[in-house]
Order: sequence, then structure tokens, then C-alpha cells
Amino acid sequence: MSELMDLYQEVILDHNKKPRNRGTLEDADHEAKGDNPLCGDQLTLYLKMDGDRVTEIRFEGRGCAISVASASLMTETITGKSQSEIAALYESFHELLTGDPSVAAEAGAELGKLRVFEGVREFPVRVKCATLAWHTLMAALEGEDASVTTE
Ligand code: ZN
Repeated sequence: MSELMDLYQEVILDHNKKPRNRGTLEDADHEAKGDNPLCGDQLTLYLKMDGDRVTEIRFEGRGCAISVASASLMTETITGKSQSEIAALYESFHELLTGDPSVAAEAGAELGKLRVFEGVREFPVRVKCATLAWHTLMAALEGEDASVTTE
């Protein structure tokens, strides 16, 4: 188990150091800002959609390693996915971090790389860092220009 945790740690550090899909999108058709004042994490998401599918996504902002790695992995995971697929992932990710252990284990099975955040469930304050990108994503999908805060 600790070897697995080391591996998870490595993935998080890698995505923090070299975030995927970082930047802006000039012709984004959805945009949202997320703010986690408890930790100081801030990010802005830019999305391009084709019908109900996300074709491109970028993020910019700053924050702790968990929040940046989570935004990076989230953008990588949802590119090409439909709104309903994204909603299902969001729900599973939430279960992984906050659900009771048996539900979390089941939810984790379909999450792939996103499972690296499993250890975060031990640290409730950090759960907000890991879910910020997802809350912001849901806001972006709902409105054209939205902002969310974890507080
Ligand atoms: Zn944070």
C-alpha cells in the first residue's frame, strides 16, 4: 500500500511540476473562475465545446501542489468527453474523496489516474484543493461566465 501511495505521490508531483493544458484559449466558449480561499488556490478554466463534448480545455492560476495537479489531471481526463460523462466522473471523484470507504473503492475503479488523489480523503482541508478544479468545471459547463468559491 505504501508503494502505491509513493506512486500516487509521484504522479501528483509530476503534474504539479509540468501541468498539462496550462494556458488560455483565445476562442473559448465557456469560462469559469474558482477560488479556494482557505488555501489560496485560484484558477480560471477555458473550454471549447462541440455540441455537448469538450474539445479543448486550458487552465491558468496558482495554488498548492494538490490543486495544480488536480486541475492538470482533470483537463487531461475530460478532453473529448460529453457533459454526462463528465458529470459521472465528477460524482465518482467526489465519492472517492468524501464517500464512505466501500463506496469510495467502487467509485475509484472507474477513475483511472484520478485515483492518485485517494490519499487526500485523510485530510479534509485538502479535499477542497483537489475538488476545486472540478467545481469550477461544473460551473463553466453550466454558464458562460461563472465563478465559484469553496467557502
Ligand atoms: Zn490548496
